[in-house]
Amino acid sequence: MNNQIKTPNFDKVLNEILKDLKPHQKTCQQCQEIFDIFKEDIEFYKIFQVPPSKLCPKCRK
Ligand SMILES: [Zn+2]
Repeated sequence: MNNQIKTPNFDKVLNEILKDLKPHQKTCQQCQEIFDIFKEDIEFYKIFQVPPSKLCPKCRK
């Protein structure tokens, strides 16, 4: 989990991102591996108000 400082503007931008987020595939910024963003992941982001991960599950550990 990241420790990004939350500002009102950040929340607004984040809500915009999360609102339109659909399950999709992403390339990990660390290992360049393709990984899936699942519906469950999106639910998680919305509940905890966090931005979508840029890293695959393996690199996140
Ligand atoms: Zn990775």
